[in-house]
Amino acid sequence: MKWVSHIALTGMIAHAVTADPLAAAAAAVGAVIPDKIEGTPERIGWSAWRSRHRGWSHWPMLYLALIGGLMRAEKYFFYDEAFFHILIWLFIGAILHIAEDAVCGKVPGILPTQKIGVRLFTVGSFREYIFVLVCIVFIYVGQYLLRT
Ligand SMILES: [Zn+2]
Repeated sequence: MKWVSHIALTGMIAHAVTADPLAAAAAAVGAVIPDKIEGTPERIGWSAWRSRHRGWSHWPMLYLALIGGLMRAEKYFFYDEAFFHILIWLFIGAILHIAEDAVCGKVPGILPTQKIGVRLFTVGSFREYIFVLVCIVFIYVGQYLLRT
């Protein structure tokens, strides 16, 4: 997915779950972390980027371990609950990025060498934006139905 799609969908999901604009903003920033770590073909060269593409930077277990580590360290290091909350949603945003990439290609699964996913659309295609729009409508409708 393009970053605009990752940011919109991830921020929307986080806001739907938490109703917290800060969590939504943190998740939206986290939604670009895996690709930011990976680098761009312009910066690192096409062949280096191709070999890294959706590699360890897109391994969900890495972000789950970071969340687990943060939760264990919370009582020792995080006196400010809001800061801890932002970090957790940053990494949840990264996990959502990986899940979103898994519907337009393959990403690592339980093991970093395992590749899982489907290709429902091509990255940057019109179908991608329709997919994101449909997801956002589903989230809004789901929220509405849960509230009434
Ligand atoms: Zn990605």
